[in-house]
Amino acid sequence: MIINRCPYCSGKLIHGYIKTRGEALAWSPNPEKLPFMTNKWHIGEDDIKLGDFSYYKGDKIDAYKCNTCNIIIINANKDL
Ligand SMILES: [Zn+2]
Repeated sequence: MIINRCPYCSGKLIHGYIKTRGEALAWSPNPEKLPFMTNKWHIGEDDIKLGDFSYYKGDKIDAYKCNTCNIIIINANKDL
């Protein structure tokens, strides 16, 4: 799914990426920080995995930014 317009101001969204390399990228409803000894590829029970863990290649997910509202929108389904 390509997102063209900001849902708040209807301005043009800029396509880009949220990137990771050192650990798995996830959205979480839990505000707690990860425990120190947690594996870097750990995804919590209620978390949504957005990127894979890889020391060498990293991973990324499409993200769309509105320069007016300064928000970033992510489609949590990587395959779309
Ligand atoms: Zn906007």
